[in-house]
Amino acid sequence: MNQINQVAIVGGSHGNELIGVYLVKKFQKYPDLIKRTGYKTVSLLGNPQAINAGRRYIDRDLNRCFTGTNLPDGETSIYEEIRAREIQTILQPQGQASVDVIIDLHTTTANMGLCIILGNMHPILLNLAAHLSTINPLVKVYIHEQPRNSGFLRSLSELGFAIEVGAVAQGILDAELFQHTEQIIYAALDYLEQFNQGKINENINTLTLYKSISTVDYPRDENGEIQAMIHPQLQFRDYQPLHPGNPLFLTFDDQEILYEGESTVYPIFINEAAYYEKGIAMYFSQKQVIDI
Ligand SMILES: [Zn+2]
Repeated sequence: MNQINQVAIVGGSHGNELIGVYLVKKFQKYPDLIKRTGYKTVSLLGNPQAINAGRRYIDRDLNRCFTGTNLPDGETSIYEEIRAREIQTILQPQGQASVDVIIDLHTTTANMGLCIILGNMHPILLNLAAHLSTINPLVKVYIHEQPRNSGFLRSLSELGFAIEVGAVAQGILDAELFQHTEQIIYAALDYLEQFNQGKINENINTLTLYKSISTVDYPRDENGEIQAMIHPQLQFRDYQPLHPGNPLFLTFDDQEILYEGESTVYPIFINEAAYYEKGIAMYFSQKQVIDI
């Protein structure tokens, strides 16, 4: 790809993640903020019904509905599947050019800072992420490799990525994180503008990234009931090394459960509220420094 023609900014795919919701409302009120000369930028709210209800979703997690299998055929009464089709029609209209870049805005109750989530290692994405890392020390880069149409909105586009910011509670606006996120979006838009103009002359040679290895569920009994909490020494320690023997969970009767893996890992999304129902207490990642 040598020219970006269309960029989409989506907020509120999860209705209780308010920073993205209100950023998109701001961009729709003041479209000049995201207007750049070299390409067209659109902004849209992902899940309007969930936003109105103040919930993550109505029937199903919208950000798992972009699978290709339920798109574009077949009947469904599930609101998020219908909405996923509508969004795909907006971003990828039949017979017309698709959006080249999707920026999907999320918040998390985990201490993720300003996390750029990439679904693939496209060189444009890696260089953009490296550039954004220079803007704000809170920026971290997480690679969760997913094929196209893997369910995530960002997977609709080769150059799709998410900005996942936290820690912030669901249903809460945090002004400082709002401003940080806004600056990252403008920096990304400016970068894409410079890319189109062939003006990228940074010499960033390496990028630190966290690559997804596995998920870890809470200890549960045979009925699925949670038996332990995130250990207090691990809470909010996203991106910090977890060594074999370090505490992972604490049971309700004060027993420590230790990490028994053989190598050091870097937990992220620790204690994300929305992941309890998904059976995820945290992700384990590997920290890598790569040449770009
Ligand atoms: Zn989200």
